[in-house]
Amino acid sequence: MAKGKRFQAPKGTRDLLPPATGVWARVEETARRVFALYGYGEIRTPLFEETELFARGVGETTDIVGKEMYSFLDKGGRQLTLRPESTAAVCRAYVEHGMQSLPQPVRLFYVGPHFRYERPQKGRYRQFHQIGAELVGGRGAESDVEILLLLVRFLRELGFTGLKILLNTVGDVASRTAYREALREYLLPLRERLSEDSRRRLETNPLRILDTKSAEEQELLRGAPTLESSLTSVAADHFRRVLSSMEAFRLSYSVEPRLVRGLDYYTNTVFEIVSEGLGAQNAVCGGGAYESMVEELGGPPTYGVGFAIGEDRLIEVLPADSPARRKSPGPVLVTAVGKASIEGGGGLELVGLLEELRAAGVPCREAGSRGAKLFDLAEALDAPAVVFLGEDELGSGSLSLRIVASREQSTLPRSEAIARLAELFRT
Ligand code: AMP
Repeated sequence: MAKGKRFQAPKGTRDLLPPATGVWARVEETARRVFALYGYGEIRTPLFEETELFARGVGETTDIVGKEMYSFLDKGGRQLTLRPESTAAVCRAYVEHGMQSLPQPVRLFYVGPHFRYERPQKGRYRQFHQIGAELVGGRGAESDVEILLLLVRFLRELGFTGLKILLNTVGDVASRTAYREALREYLLPLRERLSEDSRRRLETNPLRILDTKSAEEQELLRGAPTLESSLTSVAADHFRRVLSSMEAFRLSYSVEPRLVRGLDYYTNTVFEIVSEGLGAQNAVCGGGAYESMVEELGGPPTYGVGFAIGEDRLIEVLPADSPARRKSPGPVLVTAVGKASIEGGGGLELVGLLEELRAAGVPCREAGSRGAKLFDLAEALDAPAVVFLGEDELGSGSLSLRIVASREQSTLPRSEAIARLAELFRT
């Protein structure tokens, strides 16, 4: 009978193991390379923040804040929350470190785990990973366009084709205020026919009623005023400039008037990206501009725009021929035989050889198995070569190699053999 309790990763979380973690690392390397091309620097914010930061930044009426936060009291009685997203934290850091006095805009990216208490299902986890970028302190349309160009370049480098940007404007603050009033005025006489949730939203945030899943409410909304009719000329002009840049940079896009996204803080441009390989539902990435968040968090009025990509989902839909799927070779396997073997007392000779190989830049490890098993292991680990250290080799200062791909076997002077192995890892 087993002695100890067996544990499992908590519901909605999972272990990522090799070789899958190799793909994650290559996706993140690609992100870092592309972010560097655009002059973005990495920001690492804490995994938890004051709960109020998200309540204010993300919005009290969003599902994230209303239902999905991992919140707890620490031993000092502080109300904290595991970060469900990062834009609010980035803006908090922008204000806290006085980044408004740096040359503007400030370009930041982040990579890491986020937490939402969601019903676990395919592609939705309670601990998930986002790759995101924020351009804070920019000026309107050109900021939006830079963020979209960066995002498209990243996805293209990962091998996605047929990318299309779905775009909409949710208006600037003035347009939103005007629209909120227009919508409330339209819905007030219909109040009795709305669900309890929607009646509450009528008071708190009528725009969210537009997201309703109820057929009856959708019917009521048919005659509702559209946001377009409330757009200020400034907001309309901003959106026109974004659209004309899409054409200038030959980015394929379509305007989706119903695209509003779940977060309350967006103003002006909001977007999602779809590709031939991506299912339409469950977008891999989304983003938009936000004009009041920094001010809401105690800073000056500041224009921000950014995106977040769900890395878990991105990896699920990564094209089969994506460069991020290309495996790098595994370690060279080294085995000692005969008198040189570990049983023969040659264990330290082997450690010495392994260190010599590593110093020459050759990834390697002790094989720990022999004969047919050795070649099974070589295949499982994608080892490009196997090295034998035997009595003869010790005596003559030579090494025997087997190159796995060509099955070529040879015995070479030690330094020549090491150089040959190093060659296998030069790309
Ligand atoms: P959002 O911050 O809600 O705009 O989400 C941005 C992206 O993060 C989404 O498009 C998803 O791909 C991803 N995402 C959000 N929540 C989860 C989750 N619970 N599990 C996995 N991915 C998620």
